[in-house]
Amino acid sequence: MYRGGSDRRVGTAGNPPREEEEGEEEPRHFDTLREATMTAEREKALALLGNKCARCGFDNQLALQIARIDGTSRNNWNNRSYYRQVLRDLPYYHILCANCALITRMEREAEVER
Ligand SMILES: [Zn+2]
Repeated sequence: MYRGGSDRRVGTAGNPPREEEEGEEEPRHFDTLREATMTAEREKALALLGNKCARCGFDNQLALQIARIDGTSRNNWNNRSYYRQVLRDLPYYHILCANCALITRMEREAEVER
């Protein structure tokens, strides 16, 4: 990949980058995102299941989801009661990242069609 920071345009000395303008877009607050995606139940369930994807080891919690190992679960993001159920039946669940969740679902669907 091309790196080195030299691809920033040089000929615009009169126009310093405007960081505070264009305030139409909501600033991102990671705390809010975290609050939205990390209920206490989810955080606890993820921790107990190892905090990373069971398939590839990806460990950014924002893209991790908890699924039933047998593949019968719906994905219930942000649903506290779902995570309480996960905590009750922990051995039946594992963590998948968004990529692996998609891949395993497609593999499963392909198997069903065979
Ligand atoms: Zn994965």
